[in-house]
Amino acid sequence: MHEASVAKDLLDLVLAACGGQRILRVGLELGELSTVVPDALRFAWEVVPAGTLAEGSAVDIARIPVRVRCPSCSFTGHPVSIFEGCPRCGTISVEVLAGRELRVTTIEVADHASD
Ligand SMILES: [Zn+2]
Repeated sequence: MHEASVAKDLLDLVLAACGGQRILRVGLELGELSTVVPDALRFAWEVVPAGTLAEGSAVDIARIPVRVRCPSCSFTGHPVSIFEGCPRCGTISVEVLAGRELRVTTIEVADHASD
């Protein structure tokens, strides 16, 4: 499962960032263009952190809408479909400004390490 390896990467990242503190909650931004399925990632997060300081932690996933910029007409905004390009002039090769995110935005840790 793709999301399990994503969860493992995220786990390594948050464990490294938290320096031995118990992790309670992790906030993520996940773009609509990401291939990661939020429910699958939530499920993976229930399993992957077992035995680590993030075991039992919650994960909050915020979806980031797709935004594009058209190099031809300067349209900036949400496309009808990323595969249809610019909704104003039809240019196919638009620049993706947002929607590919997969990043940790917040990490909530316990006040005191419990072990
Ligand atoms: Zn355009």
